[in-house]
Amino acid sequence: MLDELIRLRQELHQHPELSHKETLTAQRIYSFVSAHQPSEIITKIGGEGLAVCYNYSEVGPTVAIRCELDALPIEEENQLAYQSVVKGVSHKCGHDGHMAIVAGLSPWLREQNFNKGKVVLLFQPAEEIGKGAYDMVQDEKLASLGIDYMFALHNIPGEKKHSIITMDERFSAEVISCSIKLEGQESHAAEPEKGISPAAALSMLIAALSKLNVPQTQNNNYAVLTPVYMHMGEQAYGISPALGEIHYTIRTWSAETMAELRSRIQHQVEIVCKEERLRFKLEWFEHFAAAQNNSFCNKLVKQAARANDFDVIEKPHPFKFGEDFGWFSKAYKTAMFGLGAGRGTPALHSRTYDFPDELIETGVKMFEEIITRLLED
Ligand SMILES: [Zn+2]
Ligand SMILES: [Zn+2]
Repeated sequence: MLDELIRLRQELHQHPELSHKETLTAQRIYSFVSAHQPSEIITKIGGEGLAVCYNYSEVGPTVAIRCELDALPIEEENQLAYQSVVKGVSHKCGHDGHMAIVAGLSPWLREQNFNKGKVVLLFQPAEEIGKGAYDMVQDEKLASLGIDYMFALHNIPGEKKHSIITMDERFSAEVISCSIKLEGQESHAAEPEKGISPAAALSMLIAALSKLNVPQTQNNNYAVLTPVYMHMGEQAYGISPALGEIHYTIRTWSAETMAELRSRIQHQVEIVCKEERLRFKLEWFEHFAAAQNNSFCNKLVKQAARANDFDVIEKPHPFKFGEDFGWFSKAYKTAMFGLGAGRGTPALHSRTYDFPDELIETGVKMFEEIITRLLED
């Protein structure tokens, strides 16, 4: 079976698809799991999402195990027998591996005779753009499954291979991005005083927003504001421009800190634009809710790791990356954990990353143990 899962992982790797376009990936998963006789497969949940259900009894909890379908707009640099055949697209977040793990539960679930409960294997679209989990939660088809608990893992390069990384309270940061678009008035470059240029406002905003950083990770009000893009005017040397914009990505530990930060940013933009007589448009997007670790669920994760003799690494604070599993945390009792992908492995989203196949078995064992502990009498 393990060989078959490795083949599945490499096949998924070879045929990556971007967020919201995971049609063939979903079909591949569908044909793999349908060979292992689930009670039901529900398709097109929040896009290309799938729910593969094993119903043992109407009584008892419903446990969902979630993974992601999408790849990234990154050109693969590795020379692999199963190298991506799609130009400019590749699995650089290891979602191919997560899918192999979750699909790998299918043959095992078929063999089980639990006296209670149900298991739902969830294959989520569009994780990388922070949309898929949100769209699935909004979908009636998911709500009708009556999920009680949901678990997920993410492979973590740089951490000891096969180690289980956990943290209390939450797994990943609250992340949101924004664009601040400024509009003044164009004038001849010889007479900038006759127009309203956004130049000074842009520099004032950069200075003001940099003061909102709270870089200490141990601080509950941790906040990192990263400017990612800026644009003003054109390469036209006779014109003093009217338009300028700057984009940020912002992360905090909690939703509360984020809400406060957003209103402070809004306030700063208002002050600067008033002073500089500019119109502005502030827009927020790519929101990843912090993935919460329910204490009961997180305890199960640690028990499952110890029962399998995997090393448990407890981290004092969440990962700084965004993970849209947080939208499920708002609807269900959830826990997410890291699976060490090995020290010295390239970072997630780097051109040379490739999910280590050895991790498939570790992931499968973790979820089998968690499910058994919830559904066994
Ligand atoms: Zn990613
Ligand atoms: Zn990922």
